[in-house]
Amino acid sequence: MALFDNYEIWWITGAQLLYGGDAVVAVDAHSKEMVDGLNNSGNLPVKVVYKGTANSSREVETLMKAANNDNRCIGIITWMHTFSPAKMWIHGLQQLRKPLLHLHTQYNAEIPWDTMDMDFMNLNQSAHGDREFAHICTRMRIRRKVVTGYWKDEETQKHIAVWQRVCAAWADAQDMLIIRFGDQMNNVAVTDGDKVEAEVRMGYHVDYMPFSSVMPYFDAIKDEDVDALVATYFKEYDHDASLEDKSTEAYRKVWNSAKAELTLRAVLTDKGAKGFTTNFDDLGDANVDVTGRGFDQIPGLASQRLMAEGYGFGAEGDWKSAALYRSLWVMNQGLEGGCSFLEDYTLNFDGKNSSILQAHMLEVCPLIAEQRPRLEVHFLGIGIRKSQTARLVFTSKPGTGVTATVVDLGNRFRLIVNDVECIKSKPLPKLPVASALWIPMPNFEVGATAWMLAGGTHHSCFAYGVTPEYWEDYAEIAGIEMVHIEKNTTLENFRRDLRLGEVYYMLNKSLC
Ligand code: MN
Repeated sequence: MALFDNYEIWWITGAQLLYGGDAVVAVDAHSKEMVDGLNNSGNLPVKVVYKGTANSSREVETLMKAANNDNRCIGIITWMHTFSPAKMWIHGLQQLRKPLLHLHTQYNAEIPWDTMDMDFMNLNQSAHGDREFAHICTRMRIRRKVVTGYWKDEETQKHIAVWQRVCAAWADAQDMLIIRFGDQMNNVAVTDGDKVEAEVRMGYHVDYMPFSSVMPYFDAIKDEDVDALVATYFKEYDHDASLEDKSTEAYRKVWNSAKAELTLRAVLTDKGAKGFTTNFDDLGDANVDVTGRGFDQIPGLASQRLMAEGYGFGAEGDWKSAALYRSLWVMNQGLEGGCSFLEDYTLNFDGKNSSILQAHMLEVCPLIAEQRPRLEVHFLGIGIRKSQTARLVFTSKPGTGVTATVVDLGNRFRLIVNDVECIKSKPLPKLPVASALWIPMPNFEVGATAWMLAGGTHHSCFAYGVTPEYWEDYAEIAGIEMVHIEKNTTLENFRRDLRLGEVYYMLNKSLC
């Protein structure tokens, strides 16, 4: 998880000098022990760095400013060992621009009934100290995560770990560049939106790159590098032996796919981009079959493989999904199960087991594959380049997962999250694409209805291991609305929540 090694979380212990220097020394020692304990638990993906006790307004403000300016610091954990009068946190909290987790815990687990005296009480005041701190956060409308639990408990550590992963994704998004190869698919509403507001609210930047600017990268790709990548394909994926016959069109299509992948990777690397979108109506030179310059097919295989590498991807110009997928991939590092960009493809009515096939014309990430992906070449009659097209074909692992999307409602972004149950899919011999099959929670009817009432896209970003808690943390950090469709969702309550959201965001202009 090299990505997480670039980051650290700062721990600040709240205290005050009322109880004397000895108390602060003890607070300091306890804090160090707790931070070491967390780091040695093996449950936290990002290192926690103890930054000492904060005993005054000036100390708090100094620490918060330092956190803002430190690129390694992606979030702050605060904990009040003693009572820490919260007015001393006001100026620091006004400054803080990094995610905040307030940990409500205590150094010792149980009350030492027989020995507890006032010296002990002067030290162990989290019970009321954390409430004082929480009050000022709420009073100041500071967005944060509150984790309550004993610091040695795995459950507590897991809540912190979730937030750490989201902090990493958030930090990663703040210098994220998404490149659009081609514009949005014409006339499509749900994948479009306000790119300026997206950068203000979620941090990432979206640029357009015309295909003419891609061509120099294409021209610079060496044939031997393409040959090597094709050899990698044949090694990594199942395929018909005939596909290796260099005299066939199918082989040429695989070879051209590999060149497209190298081209896209070269552009993304050169620009420092973390994600991209494609558009099947914009693939460069229309005379590619004559000139040999440009993409002779939709670069679906390239998109599949680049997604697996962690590049954000959205089809048809869907830059919001590209950015969200990248963040999901970051959060998902080291978790069980993969993640993918997916599209609601077609419905399967089957009573209580009614489900939705998730696929795309090509671009599904092999990280969610149940079996070794199969490299195949088939005709794809869509878009500007109707052509034999290489792709990876597979079905996805059964199991529970969560899918998410962001839509632009005009006055705000809404994150829509749906728990789903992936069930056994079947091969599609006449439609050879990668796919998943799921039942949205609480069932097909309510899940799909709620998703549409919320204005959800047909594109979403899915993972097996990234639970709704991750998305709650993400929405809290970003300050965007989140609606969650899950096993207890009823349409009556969900409609009410949507209406309440309209009022809340109308009144809360700072979040719009
Ligand atoms: Mn699509």
